[in-house]
Amino acid sequence: MKTFQPDPQSWKPIQALLASGLPQAMLAVGDSGSLLRLHLDALQAATLCFKPTDEGFACEQCRSCKLLAEGSHPDLWVAAPEPGKQIAIDTLRLAMEWIQYTPQVSNSRWLRIDNAEAMTVAAANAILKTLEEPPTRAHVVLHSEQASRLLPTIRSRLQRIPLPEMQMVQSMHWLQQQGVDAENSGALLRQLGNRPLRALELWEAGWLEQRQQWMRSLLDLSEQGVVATLKLAEQWSKSSDLFLIREMVLNVLADFMRLRQGLLDRIADLDYLEELRLKAPDISAEALQSNLDGWLQLPLTLSQNSNGMMVMEKLLLDWLKLWPRRKTHGIQN
Ligand SMILES: [Zn+2]
Repeated sequence: MKTFQPDPQSWKPIQALLASGLPQAMLAVGDSGSLLRLHLDALQAATLCFKPTDEGFACEQCRSCKLLAEGSHPDLWVAAPEPGKQIAIDTLRLAMEWIQYTPQVSNSRWLRIDNAEAMTVAAANAILKTLEEPPTRAHVVLHSEQASRLLPTIRSRLQRIPLPEMQMVQSMHWLQQQGVDAENSGALLRQLGNRPLRALELWEAGWLEQRQQWMRSLLDLSEQGVVATLKLAEQWSKSSDLFLIREMVLNVLADFMRLRQGLLDRIADLDYLEELRLKAPDISAEALQSNLDGWLQLPLTLSQNSNGMMVMEKLLLDWLKLWPRRKTHGIQN
């Protein structure tokens, strides 16, 4: 992957911060699938670099930059949760010990905690003291998708980093640099929001083809009725891609909302626009809201209910209720 270079104009606040002295305990807020992670990488590289440029970028030549590129920099520690798991106290205890030592290569040590809202309370408490009095020559950065979920005692000790706003055009450009063609880049970013890292990951996993199949199954349900709906519920409840399916359904529901409000320029599923347009007028507003709520809460519902198939049956039968005036499927309201 080509090294990501932030846009020099929007990097100016960071450049100023680097010149005046970077805070020791920092917070970066944003979605992991967005360019935020690459901006953080750039800041980390510039801080560890022996000879950063005047614009505040790493030189990409020095020993520190080379070690970073190889993924073996001894002064960098990244703690991150496994997907769907929490960050345990043991992981962070080790990191807290590590950060007390003198840097081996660079001028400072850099500890980064990704998805910091996933820290257990015990883990969060274990880093409090370090955040309060960081060792000299050490930086701690917490990345969070939802800073409101961090303990207030943690949040109050962190200084938020002024990372650049992420423009859609930049995300497009980056995706194309990774080899995704222009048309698919546009479609992916519309469907997945301004999250190019996530988009690339899904593109590589075949999201675009998968989505076509899932879309077809979903959109045909209103014509097919209950039996087909229960069959699809069984299939989806067993799918390892259930959360991707959820992402797709949420897009469709949001598109119905947009169509009803005339927000055509914000449609995510542009390739299905005509079909969605035909289906939108008969939709019950109440059912639409309740469908959205149901799919939004799916992770929580599944964590409280072990019968995934029943959960999915309810969601998809509710989908049929979007069209209350169609009686063919025999669902009572
Ligand atoms: Zn360098």
